Amino acid sequence: MTRQVEIVEVGPRDGLQSEPGVMPTATKVEFIERLVAAGLRRLEVTSFVNPKKVPQMADAEQVLAGLKKRSDVWYVGLVLNLKGFERAVAAGCNEIGMAVVASDTFNRRNQGVGTLESIDAWLEIAKQAHAAGVRPQVTVSAAFGCPFEGEIPVDRVIEVAKRVAEGNPSEIAFADTIGVGVPSQVTEIIGRARAALPGMKIRAHFHNTRNTGLANAYAAVEAGVSALDASAGGIGGCPFAPAATGNIPTEDLVFMLERMGIRTGIDLDALIATSEWLQGALGRPVPSMLVKAGGFPKPAPRAA
Ligand code: ZN
Repeated sequence: MTRQVEIVEVGPRDGLQSEPGVMPTATKVEFIERLVAAGLRRLEVTSFVNPKKVPQMADAEQVLAGLKKRSDVWYVGLVLNLKGFERAVAAGCNEIGMAVVASDTFNRRNQGVGTLESIDAWLEIAKQAHAAGVRPQVTVSAAFGCPFEGEIPVDRVIEVAKRVAEGNPSEIAFADTIGVGVPSQVTEIIGRARAALPGMKIRAHFHNTRNTGLANAYAAVEAGVSALDASAGGIGGCPFAPAATGNIPTEDLVFMLERMGIRTGIDLDALIATSEWLQGALGRPVPSMLVKAGGFPKPAPRAA
């Protein structure tokens, strides 16, 4: 049986939200359309959060309005509360992602309320999403460590996951928000989550802050995740996590998985071209290695 891993592109949200400048809406729409053309079918396109806190995402509604509606593409809007959820549904997102932080301190910094209150908000959002025909999924953030509380016990991470599972999400993700995770931790957390939540689809979200991103992705695939987040070019971070840098680059992940015989459905050349285009749009180089090295070398044409 051919193995398959779904890649969720988070560059337009997690990537662009930590850029110093604000990308024009039309450029964001072009970025997303290029990613769809390269084969991405699930994309976190924006977040519906306070525009004063995250000005880069202030045009969430306009981005959605600019996108071609397609029945085979999931446009995911990140939300942190009921108000954001209502905006996302009104804007036309067919999937919403909510984040609950495993660490209470980080949850308060990021979302203004404690973890338990965010779980309650998630359960209400999930109920309303199901009723509205919008697919709801949820991320347990800072699952691999917190900049304020330090190590997060795995028991705590699993406990939060079990609580959010009560909302019947389409999937639960575990996020290494600040890029401190290592493969052994991934194996443990994903393994324990799968045991605690049989049948639940699991996704993982890694940052390459300390260069462990791809190793973690490999460990997650081996541990049985069905999906992985990545950002084109490896752009990204989190404005509320000190020194968090980019996500794992989508093209680097696609290269690794496809060479391992794991199908992603993504056209690597088109993806690299998109990240090259992105460098121009941002006016600076992106962290991705594939943008520098290209894919597997094509044999030079033999001289006659
Ligand atoms: Zn992230």
